[in-house]
Amino acid sequence: MCKIAVSLLEMDYGHLDRGLKEIEAAGADYVHIDMMDGMFVPNLGIGTKLIEGIRSSANLVFDVHMMIEAPERYLERIGRAGADVITVHYEACRDVRKALDMIRRLGLGAGLALKPETPLEVLDRELLTRADVIHLMTTHPGMEGQTFIPESLNKIESLRRFLDKWKPDCEIEVDGNITMDNIEAVAAAGATVIVSGRALVQGNITENIRRMKHAAYKAESRMETAAGI
Ligand code: ZN
Repeated sequence: MCKIAVSLLEMDYGHLDRGLKEIEAAGADYVHIDMMDGMFVPNLGIGTKLIEGIRSSANLVFDVHMMIEAPERYLERIGRAGADVITVHYEACRDVRKALDMIRRLGLGAGLALKPETPLEVLDRELLTRADVIHLMTTHPGMEGQTFIPESLNKIESLRRFLDKWKPDCEIEVDGNITMDNIEAVAAAGATVIVSGRALVQGNITENIRRMKHAAYKAESRMETAAGI
């Protein structure tokens, strides 16, 4: 079943403890934490101290997305701060295989993110064996006010076919303006972890999480029916 990851960036920073407890109670699976260095992406955001500070607030999966040049420099520190999954960008690593190995040695889930313009052809068997999740950006990372890139749906479908052949248990995480309008489409294309921010926190967050889960579940049920499962 699709997992819902709530983007920390969109939460109320004045009341993070309360907010995290609220999304946990509402059935969210992950809290998605974007780290940005002002170089790999234009924005700056979130350090390890903050992760440490909120770690005990909820029993959610702490899903750290490093939009940082040479992320190898910080993996241990982020692991110590309380991450459960660390995702690095293919485009940002000095040596992407080593970075994924380091994450696994820390005993954490290893994620590999691709920008929208990075083709799936960069994924080889060596990378796949090291990754627990392939993370597809569906907007350009680190920039605000963007819309979902429609071509992402084909990319998700192609990746799902590829993973079904080589690594069926690998998650596909999608990140970038996922809303109530497109969640069914991304889930039907094969995404299994859905990052969402504004669409969840505006209005009643409990109701929004419930509706998103229901929409993803409907898409999955249709796929299973179509596949005769
Ligand atoms: Zn992210």
